Amino acid sequence: MEKKNVPEMFGSMVFDDRVMRARLSDKVYNSLKKTIDENVKLDPAVADAVAQEMRDWAVEKGATHFTHWFQPLTGVTAEKHDSFISPSPDGGVIMEFSGKELIKGEPDASSFPSGGLRATFEARGYTAWDPTSYAFIKDHTLCIPTAFCSYAGDALDKKTPLLRSMQALNRQAKRILKLFGKDVKYVRTSVGPEQEYFLVDKEMFEKRPDLIYTGRTLFGAMPPKGQELDDHYFGVIKPRVSAFMEDLNDELWKLGILAKTEHNEVAPAQHELAPIYSTTNVATDNNQLTMEIMQKVARKHGMVCLLHEKPFAGVNGSGKHNNWSMATDTGVNLLSPGDTPYENAQFLLFLAAVIQAVDDYQDLLRLSVATAGNDHRLGANEAPPAIISVFLGDELSAILEAIKNDTPYEGQEKVIMKLGVHSLPRFSRDTTDRNRTSPFAFTGNKFEFRSLGSANSIACCNIMLNSAVAESLKQYADRLEGAKDFESELHELIREVIKKHERILFNGNGYGDEWVKEATEVRGLSNLKTTADAMPHLLDEQNKKMLMEHKVFSETELHSRCEIMLENYCKTVNIEGHTMVDMVKKDYLPAIEAYMYRLAKTTSLMKSVSSKVKCNYEVTTMERLSELTDEILVKVTDLEQELKNLGDFEDIIKTSESIRDCVLPKMEELRSFVDEAELLTCEDCWPVPSYGKLLFSVY
Ligand code: ADP
Ligand code: MG
Repeated sequence: MEKKNVPEMFGSMVFDDRVMRARLSDKVYNSLKKTIDENVKLDPAVADAVAQEMRDWAVEKGATHFTHWFQPLTGVTAEKHDSFISPSPDGGVIMEFSGKELIKGEPDASSFPSGGLRATFEARGYTAWDPTSYAFIKDHTLCIPTAFCSYAGDALDKKTPLLRSMQALNRQAKRILKLFGKDVKYVRTSVGPEQEYFLVDKEMFEKRPDLIYTGRTLFGAMPPKGQELDDHYFGVIKPRVSAFMEDLNDELWKLGILAKTEHNEVAPAQHELAPIYSTTNVATDNNQLTMEIMQKVARKHGMVCLLHEKPFAGVNGSGKHNNWSMATDTGVNLLSPGDTPYENAQFLLFLAAVIQAVDDYQDLLRLSVATAGNDHRLGANEAPPAIISVFLGDELSAILEAIKNDTPYEGQEKVIMKLGVHSLPRFSRDTTDRNRTSPFAFTGNKFEFRSLGSANSIACCNIMLNSAVAESLKQYADRLEGAKDFESELHELIREVIKKHERILFNGNGYGDEWVKEATEVRGLSNLKTTADAMPHLLDEQNKKMLMEHKVFSETELHSRCEIMLENYCKTVNIEGHTMVDMVKKDYLPAIEAYMYRLAKTTSLMKSVSSKVKCNYEVTTMERLSELTDEILVKVTDLEQELKNLGDFEDIIKTSESIRDCVLPKMEELRSFVDEAELLTCEDCWPVPSYGKLLFSVY
């Protein structure tokens, strides 16, 4: 076996700190570092020097082009390649790249969604270098991570508000830390996103128009075996998949992505990849890249990587767990209980801030993960419910309870929990990580937001999470900065927060019907089941106010985002609906007809040979199939009409409601008849590969 030198390979395609330190002069390096760490404005001379070194490094590695790499609101990444070449007087070319080209780009971006932010006459937005995320080389192209804005300064991407939300949290967390006597350079949020995905055989994939057009199967009867044996979860990885994973790891490592854990998931053909966590905007860039590279590498191995949240009905869908924490520049995790009582008071305050943030902005968190695809998961018995709640585990819950009531905490020793006096026990993962049904769980030193869909950009939920926590922290800092007796004010504040927000805390089974009842009827938590229900809350007064006060979004940006996300929902389902109509008319009905013809012909032929034959199988099957085709015709006509009724999406809220109330139910009905017909039809007459073949054919 060829020996791999992972440390040498790791980050070999990244213009990272090691490369910068080695190649840039001390002056340039230090100046750039100040921009990265402390957000100090970049000196143009520094940009020129960096650009030159970046170009030399990239050309040495074989790059011929450069691109500003950005994340428009479509949710996928965009790039427009320019080559480095510039004509030289002798008729040849030289490789050129200036500081100006590094800092700013002007893609013709009129076709990216802007939700009315950018009138077409000023179609050009611009991209601006984000020096906090390293440049890298992919496909012979130097990729420069950038933010994407309109000339009026409105954010047209997901990165800009994410960076703003990180700034907001940084500002407020630093105020709090000052109160605890700590002067830190910065506080950043870290994220480790666990990515789930399916692998299917490429040949099978290509025979399914639904997978090709929509990324999920719109029809398909359950195979005799699904996931009931749980024999896939953590099972032995099949050779083809294992070869894929090895290749994938190599590609990710070269790009400096800390791919760490990989295993089979619950559903057949389902897998997971988890990286080691990093700063949120870097983690976001890396997750986008991971999804892109997964798809590329799968193709090389004759497979297709499905990132859709629900590629198959009846087996688990795919999510993405967003592990989130806050840390200082000195590496102190603010969600880790400390060793001294004083550190623990600080820990409890940050914990309180998260609890309050999740309660106050449940709907923002919910809508940040709302997409047409993810609607199939949330609330089904495989993923957290659409109701947002926080799991703390028994130990931590008991501590909060004791603080709230000023009663003894029954830990190792019976003590009245007095902040700043007693230390907290260490929470082992074992006691904090057992409830997989909670959407937002404390897992020892971080929170795990589990509602994200596998195809989601992690930017959206982290924007909301960072901003909402920044708001809690701001309120606390305002109050504590003026306090006469810091310690008693702190104690009182934490007690108040627990009392006021304990309704969001829930350690029980989030999948049960009782929880839905209790959450909505007793506790008054919101239960926004679909994207159409959730998204309009982005424009609720209190949400707008908070996001604008922390300068994460402007009012126009919020309106545009609500519009774009709803439009995306409508367009996605609309394409699915049309794909169904198309498949039914062109593939399924003719196939069923062909099979009925075969049955009818067999029957009459057999009867002409012998009067004794009954042909019960042929006749009953044909009769039922004929009934089904009649039903299918009615349902497909209904669905076509509903799709026509949508018109041109003039009023996007109304359209999204029609999608939810009229189109999706009709799709379900149509599907059920086709799936029944599939079970009655001979396999070689069926026009597309079955679930069984899709789920069990990769070895
Ligand atoms: P699970 O048991 O949830 O499947 P893993 O331990 O495999 O999880 O993955 C947990 C993820 O959480 C990893 O991506 C890991 O890097 C990340 N993580 C660990 N600690 C932190 C932290 N302090 N902040 C953010 N993410 C973290
Ligand atoms: Mg997890």
